Amino acid sequence: MAWEPSDLSQKIISQGLDVMPVTTMKGVGPRNAERLDKIGISTVQDVLFHLPARYQDRTRLTPISSLRPGDEVVIEATVELCDIKFGRRRSLLVRVADGTGSITLRFFHFSGAQKSSLVRGVRLRCYGEVRRGPSSLEMIHPEYQRLDAAEAAGMEESLTPIYPTTEGMHQLTWRGMTEQALALLEQTPDGLPEWLPAELLSQMRLTDLSAAVSYLHRPPPEADQDLLLTGRHPAQRRLAFEELLAHQLGLRKLRREQRKILAPPLGGVGDLARRLLQQLPFQLTSAQQRVGREIKQDLQQPHPMMRLIQGDVGSGKTVVAALAALQAVESGYQVAMMAPTELLAEQHLLSFRTWLEPLDISISWLTGRHKGKARKEILAAMADGSAKITVGTHALFQADVEFSRLGLVIIDEQHRFGVHQRMALRDKGSGDASVPHQLIMTATPIPRTLAMTAYADLDLSVIDELPPGRKPVSTVVVPDSRRGEVVERVLSACKQGRQTYWVCTLIEESEALQCQAAEDAAEQLELALPELRVGLIHGRLKGGEKESIMARFKQGELDLLVATTVIEVGVDVPNASLMVIENPERLGLAQLHQLRGRIGRGTAESHCVLMYHGPVSQNAQERLKVMRETNDGFAIAQKDLELRGPGEVLGTRQTGEMQFRIADVMRDQPMLPQVQQAAELLLERHSESIGPLMRRWIADRGRYIDA
Ligand code: ADP
Ligand code: MG
Repeated sequence: MAWEPSDLSQKIISQGLDVMPVTTMKGVGPRNAERLDKIGISTVQDVLFHLPARYQDRTRLTPISSLRPGDEVVIEATVELCDIKFGRRRSLLVRVADGTGSITLRFFHFSGAQKSSLVRGVRLRCYGEVRRGPSSLEMIHPEYQRLDAAEAAGMEESLTPIYPTTEGMHQLTWRGMTEQALALLEQTPDGLPEWLPAELLSQMRLTDLSAAVSYLHRPPPEADQDLLLTGRHPAQRRLAFEELLAHQLGLRKLRREQRKILAPPLGGVGDLARRLLQQLPFQLTSAQQRVGREIKQDLQQPHPMMRLIQGDVGSGKTVVAALAALQAVESGYQVAMMAPTELLAEQHLLSFRTWLEPLDISISWLTGRHKGKARKEILAAMADGSAKITVGTHALFQADVEFSRLGLVIIDEQHRFGVHQRMALRDKGSGDASVPHQLIMTATPIPRTLAMTAYADLDLSVIDELPPGRKPVSTVVVPDSRRGEVVERVLSACKQGRQTYWVCTLIEESEALQCQAAEDAAEQLELALPELRVGLIHGRLKGGEKESIMARFKQGELDLLVATTVIEVGVDVPNASLMVIENPERLGLAQLHQLRGRIGRGTAESHCVLMYHGPVSQNAQERLKVMRETNDGFAIAQKDLELRGPGEVLGTRQTGEMQFRIADVMRDQPMLPQVQQAAELLLERHSESIGPLMRRWIADRGRYIDA
C-alpha cells in the first residue's frame, strides 16, 4: 500500500498533544530536547503550557513625538546624522527623524561597515526601549532593519511573546516552537480536551481552554497588556484555575485514600484528661477546648486523624497536644511527639513531665545525641511498649526505631515538614494493617484559604485566641548606634527583677559565625553589666549544657540570656519580658514573630528592641515596620506572603510542592474558595474528569498520584 506522509501526521495527532514529544517539532533536536527537559518540558502540551512572561508590541508604529522614556516601541525614521562620539565610552550616535520629531540611536559596539551603512537619508525601522539621554531621548542598541525605497514591510499581527527561557534557547526558537504547537493544536480536534464540565465553565465564566492558550501565546494588538503582565487576564485565570483545581483534587484524593486506611480507635473515657485539667494552674481557653473536642472525636474513629492545628505563638498548643496524648495512653497506645530541634524537644519534655508525671505517666525522650547504651535502653522501652510517651527530634523516625503499639504521632512546627514527610510518618504504624493518628501543630498562621490549598489533605483546627492576660509586646526599632542606651535599658529591666533575652542573628547562614557573634556579645555584655548574671546559649554547646542553662534561666538564676536563634521556638520563660534582637534585618518576618513570641507570656508589660545595623534594604525596612506595628500573627503572615511568596513561607520551595506552572497562590488567592467549590462539584458529579485533570497538571510530578 502507498504510504502517505499525511497518514503519519494523522497518527501522531491521534496520539494527543499530551504524549507527542517535543522532537516532533521542527528545530527541536536532541540538544534542545535535553534543554527543554531540564525545565520540565517534554511534550507539545508542555510547550503550550509554557506561557510568555511578557510581550512586546511590534504591531504598530509610534510617532517619535509621542515617545516617553520607558516605552518599548517600533519607529520608522530617516537617518539625519551619523557620528562617532569619543568620550568615556566610544559610541556611535545616529540621529533619526520621522517628521514628528527626532531621537538618537546609541551603539557602544559597532563595526565600520555598520557606520558606513547608516548614512544620511537611509530609512530604518527600529525596535527598542526609549530612554532619557544626555541631550535628547535615545534608544540604546535598538534592533533595526533598513527599509529600501518606499517599500512598506508588514507589521506583526499579534503582540510578540517573550518566553521565560533557559540557557541556549533563544526567543526565536521559542517562537518557532510555539508557532508549530499552536498549529498542531488547531489541526487536532481534541488537542487539549476540555475537562471542566460545561456547568462549571458557565458558572465561573471561564473561557475555552484551547482558546485561552492560543490567546496567551499570540495576543491580538488590542489585548490589555497591564492585565497580562500582572497575570490577571481572563485567559490566564482560566489556566490558573484549572491548575489549582487539579492540585486541590490531588490532595483531596490523598485525603480520601487516607480515610480508607485503618487506625486504632482511641476511645479512652477521658479520666486522665480530666485529672490533668484539674491540676493545671489555668483554665483552657474556649479555642483550646473546641480544638480539644475536635481532636478527641477524630481519635475515636477507626481511620487515621490527619489534623493540622494552627495557633499563633503562645496560643497554648502544647497542652492541647498533651490532652491528645493522654487519650492515646488511656486507650493503651503509645505516643511519639516530634519537634524540629533538640531544644524544642527538651521544652516539650519539660512541659509534659510537669503535667503528666503527677498522673504517673513517665515520659522518655530520644534525640540524635542519645548514643550507645542510653539509646539502646530507650529503643527497647519503645519496642516493648513500656515507654508510653516519647518526645524527640526526627531521630524518632529512623529506620531502627520501633514501637510496640504506636497510636498517635504529634509533630510540632509543621512548616518544616512537607507532604512527603507526612506520608513517611504514617508508616511507623503499630505493626498490623493500621497506622497511627497524626496531629500536626504549626505557629505559621497562614490565611485559611491558602492553608486549605496547601494542606487540603489535612483537616484544619485553629486556636484563634490567646490565653487571657497576655499583653501585646511593644516593639521599637533602633539603629545599633544607640547600643549604649539599649544596654542601659537591659540593666534597668533586670534590676526590676525582669529577665532579658539578647538574640544574635545568623550571619551568612553560618552557624559557627553566629555562635561566635553570640559569644562576643555575651563577653561584651558581661563587661558592660558586671552586676547582672549573664548566660549564653547557642547551637554548638554540648548536649546537656544547653538544657542546664535554659533551666537556670527559667529558675531565675540568670538575668540576661544571650542566645542565637536556637531559642526561636518553644522556649517558655514567662518572667522574661524584654528582648533585644541584634540585626533583625537579617531575619524573615515569621522568624522575628516566633522570636518575639518568647516574651509577652507573663503578666508584665513586655518590650522588644529591634536593633538594626544600617543601611537596610527596602524589603527589610518593610519587615521591621510590620513588626513595630502589629503583634497579630495572621497579619504578619499575610505580609510575609506578600514579601516572600508562599513557597518560602510554607517551606515548600525546596521540595517543589506548591510549585505551579501558571498559578500563583498569592496572586490567585481570591479564586481559591471557588477552586474548592469546583473540586466539590467534580467529586460529586464529574468524577470522570478528575483523573485526566490530575494527569494533565500533576502527573509528571507523580507525588499525589502514586500516594
Ligand atoms: P505555643 O502555642 O506557642 O506552643 P505553648 O503551648 O508553649 O504555646 O503555651 C505558651 C504558654 O502558655 C505556656 O506557658 C503554657 O503553659 C501557657 N498556657 C497554655 N494555655 C493556657 C491557658 N489557657 N491559660 C493560661 N496559660 C496557658
Ligand atoms: Mg509550641
